[in-house]
This record gives sequence, structure tokens and C-alpha cells, in this order.
Amino acid sequence: MIEIKNLSKIYATTGQQVLALDDVSLTVKKGEIFGIIGLSGAGKSTLIRCINMLEKPTRGSIAVDGREITSLGMGELRLARQKIGMIFQQFNLLSSRTVFDNVMFPLEIAKVPRAEATKRVQELLELVGLTDKAGMHPGQLSGGQKQRVGIARALANGPKLLLSDEATSALDPQTTRSILKLLKDINRQLNLTILLITHDMNVIKEVCDRVAVISNSRIVETGDVLDVFSSP
Ligand code: ADP
Ligand code: ADP
Repeated sequence: MIEIKNLSKIYATTGQQVLALDDVSLTVKKGEIFGIIGLSGAGKSTLIRCINMLEKPTRGSIAVDGREITSLGMGELRLARQKIGMIFQQFNLLSSRTVFDNVMFPLEIAKVPRAEATKRVQELLELVGLTDKAGMHPGQLSGGQKQRVGIARALANGPKLLLSDEATSALDPQTTRSILKLLKDINRQLNLTILLITHDMNVIKEVCDRVAVISNSRIVETGDVLDVFSSP
């Protein structure tokens, strides 16, 4: 589903160069939940932003679902991005819109006809267990409920790939478990590939099939979660 080869990213925005990714190669298979773990500053966000085409790699290639994405034009880029869902630590919901309209938002951008979009939003809210919260605003929801809205919104355009950027890092342990359970259910039900980044080993152990450890801009280990984190 994702094939990354010899990916490097150098930030040069401040005049001084920062090597954020150093020759990273990685394969994420269809249908798996793949975790990338590392300390703050290791390069996790940069990697996920390159996959989501928000950042242009300095070197290397990224293929998503068999298609090279590092050389797409603007129009192709927008379409390709619609096929990748993303969830965030701070949820990134629109506070002035209801739950329903937050999930509707990507469907509006994709110009999906209103009736079809309405049906789709209703299905998504049912999937994440928020049907009764459709008319509420994000400010009226708990953290876990906000992330459920984020997940429904991320799934709106039927992505094949979901990227999660520290999606449970702002939640308490119990809520974290319920969100991870939801992600696992969705992974199985929709055969959705999930790539998540986290600094929390418990997240990896709870939901991931495979894991890569990133340290100082490099992947230092990759394997099945049970092998990488087995007790001595
Ligand atoms: P992580 O997500 O693991 O915390 P990041 O990918 O955010 O790591 O950061 C990796 C390195 O790149 C850090 O040294 C960070 O300071 C640097 N960095 C991230 N974004 C930028 C940017 N826009 N400009 C310059 N340096 C950046
Ligand atoms: P929090 O703990 O922050 O309230 P949760 O993520 O644990 O948030 O749950 C949000 C709401 O969704 C809760 O009211 C919970 O009962 C409900 N809920 C959780 N999972 C499901 C599900 N699979 N189907 C329907 N409702 C659910």
C-alpha cells in the first residue's frame, strides 16, 4: 500500500539546514496497521506529511497504492490527497460547524451530490457511534467524541489509507483504548490500511501489526510488534 524508498527530507527554511529524514525505506502492506514510534524530533511528523503530500521530499520516492506521489501536479495532488484520510492529536475540527457538518465538509469539497453526501454522513456517524450527537458543536463533546468525529471525517471520501498523527496523545488511557478499538474495528470492517505515528509504546502494542522505530531521522528497526517489543 505504501512503498517508501531512500526518502530524505532537508528543511532549509531558517537558513540553517535540518536533516529531518535520512534515507528512510519502508513498506506498509494492504490491510495492516503499521506503527512508527520515536521520540519527539525523530522525524515522525515529517514522514507522515511527506506521505500526505503536505511536504515535498528532498530525495527518494513514495508510492501509494502503486502510484508514485512525489511528482504529481497540483490537480492530481488534490485528488490523490482525497484518497488518504488523516486524523490529528488536536482533532482539527471546525468549531463553528456541527458534528454533522464537520463530517460533511470533505464531501462538499469533493462536490459529492447533497443527498448522497447526507446518507454517507449518517452512515459514518453510526459507524463511530455518534448518531445522537449530529447536531452538537465540537465544544460540547468530550475528547474521545471529538476524535470520533475526526475519524468519521477522515473516512468521508472512502480512503484506502488512514494516517494517524498522535491521534490518542491528548486522551486519557481509557478513552485511548476505546479510540484504538474503533480504529481496529474499522481496519477489519473496511480493510483499511492504517499508518500511525506515536511516541507511546502502549499504542503500538495495543493495535499495530508491525512497527518501525525511528531515531534521529533514521529507521533503526522494523518488524512484527511481538518480535520488536518481546521481553528478553
Ligand atoms: P517528530 O514528529 O518525530 O517530533 P518532526 O518530523 O516534527 O519530528 O521533526 C524532525 C526534525 O525536523 C526536528 O529537528 C524538527 O525541529 C525539524 N523540523 C520539523 N519541521 C520543520 C520545519 N518546517 N522547518 C525546519 N525544521 C523543521
Ligand atoms: P469519551 O470517553 O471521551 O466520552 P469515547 O470515545 O469513549 O469518549 O466514547 C464516545 C461515545 O461513543 C460514548 O458515549 C460511548 O458510549 C459511545 N460509543 C463508543 N463506542 C461506540 C460504538 N462502537 N458504537 C456506538 N457508540 C459507541
